[in-house]
Amino acid sequence: MDLEKFIRNVPDFPKKGIQFKDITTLINNPEAFNEAVNWMESLFKSEKIDKVVAIESRGFIFGAPLALRLNAGLVLVRKKGKLPAATLSAQYKLEYGTDSLEMHSDLIEEGEKVVIVDDLLATGGTIAATIELLEKLKAEIVGISFLIELDGLNGGEKLKGHPSYSRMKLPCD
Ligand code: AMP
Repeated sequence: MDLEKFIRNVPDFPKKGIQFKDITTLINNPEAFNEAVNWMESLFKSEKIDKVVAIESRGFIFGAPLALRLNAGLVLVRKKGKLPAATLSAQYKLEYGTDSLEMHSDLIEEGEKVVIVDDLLATGGTIAATIELLEKLKAEIVGISFLIELDGLNGGEKLKGHPSYSRMKLPCD
């Protein structure tokens, strides 16, 4: 199934020059949504995965059904200040300054096999911070899946050699 046609490109959102890849049109179609989750499941179903780590906020949409399919726990990576219990945090670069991502520190044991899920890889700052959180916990990163990878931003260089998969590559401009 061609999932690319379900992604809506919105020019100049949230600011001029950004081509926003909108997945609301994909998840609005049950066959397309199911196919996206089937694809992610197919990447990892031959291994016993302990935890699916999903990145706020669109990563949650794909991470939750994937965790159920893989019979794995679901762990949320959230923007600073959203998680209520003790957290670990890692900084990432924004265009101006930095922000941080957080994860509850007691949800992954050393050596557990995890997969990371987000909707889209752009510059790779978000995924790099998530990898840093998982390294602090000494998790074993089995793989990283993105529905979309933006071409031309070299986000793949931030993955520290972990196996990664994207269903489609789209131009960033
Ligand atoms: P980055 O850290 O630059 O790899 O950005 C990845 C994160 O920002 C993902 O969580 C995406 O949801 C979001 N993002 C970045 N660029 C876009 C874009 N052009 N369209 C939609 N989402 C984007």
